[in-house]
Amino acid sequence: MTGDQWGSIRKELSETLGENSFKNWIKPLVYLGTKDGIARFQVPTNFMGNYVSQNFGDVILSKVANVDPTIRRIAFETSAPKAASPKAAAPAPVAAPQFVGEEETAPQSDALNGSPLDKRFTFDSFVVGKPNELAHAAAKRVAEGGPVTFNPLFLYGGVGLGKTHLMHAIAWELRTRQPHLNVLNLSAEQFMYRFVQALRDRKMMDFKELFRSVDVLMVDDVQFIAGKDSTQEEFFHTFNALVDQNKQIIISADRAPDEIKDLENRIRSRLQSGLVVDLHPTDYELRLGILQSKSEMYSRMYPGLEVEKGILEFLAARIVSNVRILEGALTRLFAFASLIGKPITMDLTQECLTDILRVSERKVSIEEIQRKVADHYLIRHSDLVGPKRVRTFARPRQIAMYLCKQLTTRSLPEIGRHFGGRDHTTVMHGVRRIEELKKQDAQIAEDVELLRRSLEA
Ligand code: ADP
Ligand code: MG
Repeated sequence: MTGDQWGSIRKELSETLGENSFKNWIKPLVYLGTKDGIARFQVPTNFMGNYVSQNFGDVILSKVANVDPTIRRIAFETSAPKAASPKAAAPAPVAAPQFVGEEETAPQSDALNGSPLDKRFTFDSFVVGKPNELAHAAAKRVAEGGPVTFNPLFLYGGVGLGKTHLMHAIAWELRTRQPHLNVLNLSAEQFMYRFVQALRDRKMMDFKELFRSVDVLMVDDVQFIAGKDSTQEEFFHTFNALVDQNKQIIISADRAPDEIKDLENRIRSRLQSGLVVDLHPTDYELRLGILQSKSEMYSRMYPGLEVEKGILEFLAARIVSNVRILEGALTRLFAFASLIGKPITMDLTQECLTDILRVSERKVSIEEIQRKVADHYLIRHSDLVGPKRVRTFARPRQIAMYLCKQLTTRSLPEIGRHFGGRDHTTVMHGVRRIEELKKQDAQIAEDVELLRRSLEA
């Protein structure tokens, strides 16, 4: 990537991220060059490097990879490296971007260590709601470590819904309740890595012994081994050996066993032989609960930082994708507000989260808008879109057109077609008219606001 290319990416970023975020986080980055597929940037502080990496890493990477497909990673470096080795001419990267769903895959010397457990992922910090109550109850039961009743426990659900969190929570709980148990928690990818390494080093006996000696085996993201035949084979044997010894197995995947393609049937049926529970997509209440619990934590971290009423509700309604993104939004919001020393208001939220909010924009249809407006003014849909020009129909019609322009991405001619084949100039006139009236007529302003809010809810 050339400096000029980075220059135009910067311009794009300033548009997607909004002026403030751009000024604070993107502008100070100095592009150093690309080598071995890594685009390097200089940042003034470590804090900033980490922050940018976590919050904007994905969007920056996708943009730079777009202009230069050889770039696979971005790295941020502070200007003053601690010279660790005499050869340390290039400063060490302070943080690699965190890719969604990726686990630490560095080889481990201690054979029995799986993934390091994340301190934040406990039962205490897991917010329970309708969509996840079954998965939570099952995880709790397994963590209590009584007799093995369902084996395996198979947890599945979309990305960012809490599978890894629950698995770590089980591991933590078992560690305190039954410290003598040998609990191994790893991702399917790590399982494969170990397996391949054992093959290469001719240490298959050790490998088999190791896995057969655990009391509780947890394998995260098992969909990863789909299509990897010898890993599946080995997994199958490990699995059977443990079940035969009545050892607990906990598996997670991003979909149900019968939806994982390229999985051997005997493995599929083994996975289904225990308890299969799914984490449903979050609902509004769960999202609000999670936001409340996180924001309490942040309020302790940033004492004195005020959060205006209604912000969490707004975020819970607007960011419906997944918990990881929801959390990321809140983290950024608190970090941003504390940095500039201002309370978290609606304006600040909109500004700071422009990119996330834009992506999660709910798609409202023209039909929905027409229905709501007709209901609101107690007129028939046919009159709303029909030819009559009396004020009782014309005004609601203009309001509906205005809302279509505001809330959908449809063009003026398209909107016109949905209103009885009207011309785009008519739609434009209607939109302008409402813009003016909103300033002069409090009743109309209020109606429009009400309708907008109920359409966006
Ligand atoms: P998955 O493994 O299903 O992709 P994770 O377990 O990594 O998802 O969860 C993503 C993020 O969302 C984590 O930071 C996790 O703590 C958080 N999270 C998910 N569900 C909940 C919940 N119910 N309560 C609190 N935090 C949650
Ligand atoms: Mg996970």
